[in-house]
Amino acid sequence: MRTAIAIDGPAGAGKSTVAKLVARRLGYLYLDTGAMYRAAGLKALRLGVPPGDASRVTGLIASTDVSIAFVDGTQHVLLDGEDVTALIRTPPVSVAASDISAIPAVRLRMVELQRKISSERDVVMDGRDIGTFVLPDASCKIYLSATIEERTRRRCRELEERGAEVVDADAVRRDIEYRDHNDSHRALAPLAKAADATLVDTTGLSVEDVVETILRRVRHCAS
Ligand code: C5P
Repeated sequence: MRTAIAIDGPAGAGKSTVAKLVARRLGYLYLDTGAMYRAAGLKALRLGVPPGDASRVTGLIASTDVSIAFVDGTQHVLLDGEDVTALIRTPPVSVAASDISAIPAVRLRMVELQRKISSERDVVMDGRDIGTFVLPDASCKIYLSATIEERTRRRCRELEERGAEVVDADAVRRDIEYRDHNDSHRALAPLAKAADATLVDTTGLSVEDVVETILRRVRHCAS
């Protein structure tokens, strides 16, 4: 029986930063499920298919291969065999990922892959629906949140660190609010805290504080 830690929450709550560190401390694989939806969103953008057009996207996804490779423990996402890891962190791809992820055919494909990976390895998996839908039997579930101001600041910092020349904080905030609304209101597997997840508000906490809080919770879940 494999162990899975589910970490969910809205955009900018700090999921990927802390999930990666928690996975390293536990010796587990870290799986960033958002990267899969981002790759699907990138494909739609490249082909000029509106990512919210369910019938066109359903056709597109049937002939699209999204897969994950781990190189020295680091996740790479492959779109039809091409490594697109470095291309999926832009604001347009974030919004396309949110739109495309609402389409059931897309979600079901990605969820199948996520469940397969977690059946083979001990994982820390982050996303929006891991505790509620992908892995409802996860051994420990965490829901991270933070104020919209803090999440906007973090996303701006991340874009700057990735080399963006101009970061418009108002536009970043609007994107986050758009995605939060979209992600929480879709019909299939919306963003939600699982009833048995522990809520951790990361506003004002250091990364190390959040990691320690989660590790304490993981130990508690295991006892
Ligand atoms: O986590 P990240 O911001 O990279 O995710 C990009 C988008 O992918 C999210 O806004 C959300 O719409 C979608 N997503 C999802 N379910 C997940 C992970 C991400 O719907 N498990």
